Amino acid sequence: CGIVGYVGNKEVAPILINGLKKLEYRGYDSVGMAVLDDSNLTVLKCKGKLAILEEKMSQNYPKGFIGLGHTRWATHGKPSDINSHPHVSKSGKIAVVHNGIIENYLELKEFLETKGYEFVSETDTEVVGNLVEYNYKGDLVKAVIETLNEIEGSYALGIMCTDCPEMFVAVKKDSALVVGLGKDGNYVASDIPAILDYTRDVYILDDKEVVVLTADNVKVYNNLGVEVKKEVFKVTWDV
Ligand code: GLU
Repeated sequence: CGIVGYVGNKEVAPILINGLKKLEYRGYDSVGMAVLDDSNLTVLKCKGKLAILEEKMSQNYPKGFIGLGHTRWATHGKPSDINSHPHVSKSGKIAVVHNGIIENYLELKEFLETKGYEFVSETDTEVVGNLVEYNYKGDLVKAVIETLNEIEGSYALGIMCTDCPEMFVAVKKDSALVVGLGKDGNYVASDIPAILDYTRDVYILDDKEVVVLTADNVKVYNNLGVEVKKEVFKVTWDV
């Protein structure tokens, strides 16, 4: 139900927690985050409130400068620790957070099962990470674009790969996602208030544009992989 992501030169975990707090009003049943530290991926997630996640963090603090946070409003699979996001692909390479519904997930799941993929959750989301992994031949953006051509439904997605610990990819279709351009790094969020403490410069995304975020750069591509120029939109209001 809510997504926040950051890459930059500040510790990511407090930024994700702060952003998720700002998204709480949307309602949620589960919460989680994935943080990359070089190629070390830490995923913490649970059914229930943010306070439970914060408690987990106090025992296993996810150090790192790039990460994705999520609040879930379950549509496919009951609220549970396992069904919470982020979801990690079979090999542990790809981590995904998702808002929305992948309508053809059953068909994709059956296909991936014939390719040796196993599924641990009941969610529609889990196919996305495994499909990106299946399509991944060393170029994450290419793999995401291929995946977009195969998934149907509505989505805002944040995707990280342990092979590329300097960047994450974000994309949306019929679901809200904005990019925040900051001085100390770059952000995505399903709602502007989640990042207003850090920046007022945003890109409003069109459906199926693929965003590649690094600490000092944001590039946006169309679904053919051609770079598109975005206009910076200045947020003038406060919450
Ligand atoms: N369909 C996904 C799930 O049930 C995402 C739900 C959401 O938008 O939070 O896990």
